[in-house]
Amino acid sequence: MKYVILIALAAVVLWWLRARLRGPAAPTARRRAEPARPQAMLACAHCGVHVPQADVVADAAGRPYCSEAHRLAGPR
Ligand SMILES: [Zn+2]
Repeated sequence: MKYVILIALAAVVLWWLRARLRGPAAPTARRRAEPARPQAMLACAHCGVHVPQADVVADAAGRPYCSEAHRLAGPR
């Protein structure tokens, strides 16, 4: 029984020494989340709704549309 206590004590001391040697946790350089960049908004040539440039459906002439249906309907 004495050895069990000694081993447990040694384990605690080793754990404590390892924690001390490692030192305080270095503050991790947390990367700041980049703010969302403003997106160009284009007005649909058919209905005038503004759509993010990435979501625009363009026709052959390059006119922006909010959807495929409005591209087929054409400019107004
Ligand atoms: Zn539209």
